Amino acid sequence: MKSHAKVVVIGGGVVGCSVLYHLARHGWKDVVLLERDELTSGSTWHAAGGMHTINGDPNVAKLQKYTIELYKEIEELSGQATGVHITGGVLLAATEARMDWLRGVVAKGRYLGLDLEEVSVEEAHRLMPLIDPKQFVGAVRNSEDGHLDPSGVTHAYARAARKLGAEVERFTKVEDIVRRPDGLWRVITNKGEVVAEHVVNAGGLWAREVGRMVGLELPILAMEHMYLITEDMPEVAEINASTGKEVIHAVDFDGELYLRQERGGMLMGTYEKANKPWSEVTTPWNFGHELLEPDIDRIAPSLEVGFRHFPAFQKTGIKQIINGPFTFAPDGNPLVGPVRGMPGMWVACGVMAGFSQGGGVGLALSNWMIDGDPGFDIWAMDVARYGDWTSMAYTNAKVRENYSRRFSIRFPNEELPAGRGLRTTPVYDLLAAKGAQFGVAYGLEVPLWYAPDGVSDAFSWRRSTDFPHVAGEVKAVREKVGLSEISSFAKYRVTGQGAETWLDRMLACKLPAEGRMTLAPMLKEDGRLIGDFTIARLPAGEWFMAGSGIAEQYHMRWFEQHLPADGSVSIEALALSKVGLSIAGPDVRKVLEKVTRADVSNKAFPFMAIATIDIGMAPCLVGRVSYTGDLGYEIWMAPEHQRHVLQTLLAAGEEFGIGLFGSRALNALRLEKNYGSWGREYRPIYGPLEAGLDRFVAYAKPADFIGKAAALKERESGGKLRLRTFIMDATDADVIGDEAIWHDGKVRGWVTSGGYAHHSGKSVALGYVPKEIADADDFEIELLGKRLRARLQRTPLFDANYERLRG
Ligand SMILES: Cc1cc2nc3c(=O)[nH]c(=O)nc-3n(C[C@H](O)[C@H](O)[C@H](O)COP(=O)(O)OP(=O)(O)OC[C@H]3O[C@@H](n4cnc5c(N)ncnc54)[C@H](O)[C@@H]3O)c2cc1C
Repeated sequence: MKSHAKVVVIGGGVVGCSVLYHLARHGWKDVVLLERDELTSGSTWHAAGGMHTINGDPNVAKLQKYTIELYKEIEELSGQATGVHITGGVLLAATEARMDWLRGVVAKGRYLGLDLEEVSVEEAHRLMPLIDPKQFVGAVRNSEDGHLDPSGVTHAYARAARKLGAEVERFTKVEDIVRRPDGLWRVITNKGEVVAEHVVNAGGLWAREVGRMVGLELPILAMEHMYLITEDMPEVAEINASTGKEVIHAVDFDGELYLRQERGGMLMGTYEKANKPWSEVTTPWNFGHELLEPDIDRIAPSLEVGFRHFPAFQKTGIKQIINGPFTFAPDGNPLVGPVRGMPGMWVACGVMAGFSQGGGVGLALSNWMIDGDPGFDIWAMDVARYGDWTSMAYTNAKVRENYSRRFSIRFPNEELPAGRGLRTTPVYDLLAAKGAQFGVAYGLEVPLWYAPDGVSDAFSWRRSTDFPHVAGEVKAVREKVGLSEISSFAKYRVTGQGAETWLDRMLACKLPAEGRMTLAPMLKEDGRLIGDFTIARLPAGEWFMAGSGIAEQYHMRWFEQHLPADGSVSIEALALSKVGLSIAGPDVRKVLEKVTRADVSNKAFPFMAIATIDIGMAPCLVGRVSYTGDLGYEIWMAPEHQRHVLQTLLAAGEEFGIGLFGSRALNALRLEKNYGSWGREYRPIYGPLEAGLDRFVAYAKPADFIGKAAALKERESGGKLRLRTFIMDATDADVIGDEAIWHDGKVRGWVTSGGYAHHSGKSVALGYVPKEIADADDFEIELLGKRLRARLQRTPLFDANYERLRG
């Protein structure tokens, strides 16, 4: 075994082998994979080998498509058969709600280039004769589904990697990982030591244990998973004979099961409600090519549905039940990327669908390691989407919930019950007592809307029970004054003698003067967005920034990677040590004047001013800005003051009819101002010009900010896309994001977010289209299977002249 390598990949499952292959293919040859046993000795060897392109996140779906298309390449390069059979498949809906969901999947698939098509039950029955058509209301045909040989694929990656110069060391167990003072990693094995610049944890079932070697507790948990294989079935033989093909795949969402042909019989896998985690605390090192004890009682309720939906199963015997463990992250998507605070340490684990996702994970990670950027939008898989709050118990609760809902519908207004109440702010119970219906963002409970007694969300794709109440909240803001909680924003404090110079390089905007704020796009080297913040310059060389709450870890990783080594700048994520409230509306200044001695007149405290002032008895940092697009203030305070500030403002606002509003009303308000948000309109695949943020980019500032050269090029070339606002002819449902935008009979763009703008009385969609057609007027947006007319809205629906905002 070599003693030095550029990269050590730990784990010879499908994911580690894919990472190794992609690193070698991308040009890094001095790479070695260490496997404690034979290759495939974790969850890989007993996988059912199914693969499919659909995923709740469109960017993950793209990488799944890439994975499936890659198998030909590795088979040719390695000479190792992968056993790939593309059979096609049907996605079956037993309810109308499921069919609505599937229509959304088809619409998404159109702009992702996936070959999906809605078909009738009769057609589904023709394609997959084993179904009982009476059990279903409709289906979607997917031409890219198929299955493969898990071991063949893994060995094909490994062989192809070796051919490109990579090395594989089997029976080499990593026992410890130690960081040297020079930043290199000592990877200590049972056969000696390798010193590496980079380490990739692709430990699969043991990724947690490998993480612990460097003090990292990864939010992953293994679950037992069962599938059965039947005896040979005459119905299968008949289909094979009459079509000359294998029986196609089927996913039965309402039964939470999947099926495919296995030799002369069928394979049926279940995601049962009464699921069971495996090795909850520590994975035993002596587990290898073994299976777990099958437990047919546990999956019996799922099988009952399966046998009813596919009646031929009732007449056949079960030949074998496979039970094996594999790992999940709390949301079921992989954990990929660099680990914050540990330069050179990478993860590629929690991959629950290794044969659909392994290729994409390897590609993204190798790009990231070699080019410094994953090359795609991989937020849904980024390890930084979780923070320190993801305890083992939280992960356990969420993974079990996710497993039991693997194929369940999640309605746009549905909040899931597991892992709740973990992070709350001091006003949580006060707001709950006023009817707050909470959702969760980055583990924190956030008020979505306020419900009268006896009313709650009825889950639906269409406008629901909250609609009139959210309308009421919006009305309070636009006509009187509204108050909302904003603690879920990420807040940062930047200090140090080098802070100004550093921020001028990190952020693309012109930095504000003392006592002022500005909007601050942050770019990557390729000129695309990696963040958008509000930045304020406070007295005594201190800077305050607010940004997307869910991206706190993601942005801290980026900031820390770019901090100067001389210690002249420090940045701190304030998390819940600073909490917030926001007030907005035409009467808001009158309310504020009642609770502070500070002069908050427009002259003394204009739009984008910021100062520390007392509210009631509490010292607060108050900025004159509001995401509602109205006259408003964001108020930041220590958590011990939040109850006092809330009660003070509510009491002062009573005479003006102050109302509480939640994030759904905020969405309705910001839509009519064309305000985008991080994770929706602003993502690392868009340039500032494309996203309409170019007016905040100081192209001419002397500082050589990150991404400047590329941003200048984008400005010159005009980029490729444009973010646009559309008004839709929608009557009982509004877009939520990821719907297809049609123009001239073709899908040309996608929706990033939308909803009903109650004050303007319009159904609004924001989305990207190619710049060549960005000013056309004959768009349609596909919503729940129908193409609805969508007209461009060129100016904000509300306060287009900024009179309210600046008044
Ligand atoms: C019953 C069942 C059916 C499934 N069906 C499908 C399916 O149809 N389609 C699909 O896409 N997925 C399926 N899966 C999931 C799939 O198996 C996983 O997504 C995949 O195996 C994950 O691969 P991995 O490389 O991340 O992890 P693993 O396969 O667990 O590999 C990790 C490797 O790392 C090695 N290792 C760990 N620690 C060390 C160390 N310290 N030193 C050296 N080596 C180490 C282990 O020995 C192991 O070989 C199924 C899983 C099960 C259990």
